[in-house]
Amino acid sequence: MKVIKIDKNSWTKGIDKSREAYKLFGPVKDKTIVIFKELEQGMFPEMEYTDSVLSAKSVIFPQTEKILGGSLDESIEDHHILKRPDTNYSPRAVLGIRPYDAKAIQLVKLNFDTEDYRDPYWCDAYEATTFIGLAINEPSAFDFSTLTDTGPFGEEGLDILLVDCKEEYLAKVLTDKGETFLKASGFEESANTKPSLKTIKALQSKAEKAITSKIDSSKIKDKTILELYEAPFWDDLAFSCINCGTCTYVCPTCWCFDIQDETRGKTCSRFRNWDTCMDPLFTMHGSGHNPRGEKTQRVRQRFMHKLKYFLDKYDKGIMCVGCGRCVKHCPVNIDIREVCNTMNSYEKQE
Ligand code: SF4
Ligand code: SF4
Repeated sequence: MKVIKIDKNSWTKGIDKSREAYKLFGPVKDKTIVIFKELEQGMFPEMEYTDSVLSAKSVIFPQTEKILGGSLDESIEDHHILKRPDTNYSPRAVLGIRPYDAKAIQLVKLNFDTEDYRDPYWCDAYEATTFIGLAINEPSAFDFSTLTDTGPFGEEGLDILLVDCKEEYLAKVLTDKGETFLKASGFEESANTKPSLKTIKALQSKAEKAITSKIDSSKIKDKTILELYEAPFWDDLAFSCINCGTCTYVCPTCWCFDIQDETRGKTCSRFRNWDTCMDPLFTMHGSGHNPRGEKTQRVRQRFMHKLKYFLDKYDKGIMCVGCGRCVKHCPVNIDIREVCNTMNSYEKQE
């Protein structure tokens, strides 16, 4: 394991150097919140943040993305033929992504990059990206990532893990992509590996101990889908939901989308937009029939997908990385930790 030492005084210089080879994205303050966006010239990632409202999901899976375009102008030879736009997939790097958000991208990958189908937009963006993580020294009260196979110092899905050690960052180099980024940034001073890893381990252990939430999904796999689907608790759990969709938009593992076609003058475009299973229109059929027309059905779908269907289908744990965003931002305090524990402990009465 190679560890690089980055003096914080040389941080901005290195980031600027990396711009010669990479388009950069990172967390930035937007009034009172932190979101991920492209770091234009002169912008640097916010490295002191606790948690961001939106994750870096949009770097690979934009909120709105033009996926096809064409012309209705019949004087053009290929009129009425929709083609993929010429999107720039040159190397990009996401700085300061939290470990649970990097793991979330690995879970989303299971859907977009399969043996049967590779989503070209998602896969091209993913392959162009280097993920530079920032370990969480002080987890928020909403963080339960240690209970979802991730943790504040998790490495899955990262090319580099940066650890803030006050005067300097220690950078664990996890992949060749990570090594290439560090070279391009001029960050090449090797740290003394053994003591550095000891320092990182001590910070990791402190951060992990600070997470006190309790969530248990260990028994969900043994229950049948029907048993949980027909359980009597869904009406109570869904009662206060106002279908705002916040939980799904802030979630780094939610991948639902809608396709919209637009025509302006003689230009036609097909867009892919984030959508939410919490909205009744999401499943509305052209016939007017809606298989999930009731709120309880939609709330049940969200939790069954995250905590049961995904678990059964992929055998990679639940579709949640414990970031706590949906808990923090739900206006009526619906809490996935409580729902998970309720599902886990449910025993059908014969
Ligand atoms: S379900 Fe909630 S806690 Fe889990 S990853 Fe999504 S937003 Fe985070
Ligand atoms: S954030 Fe809360 S109220 Fe809004 S859709 Fe999700 S569960 Fe319902």
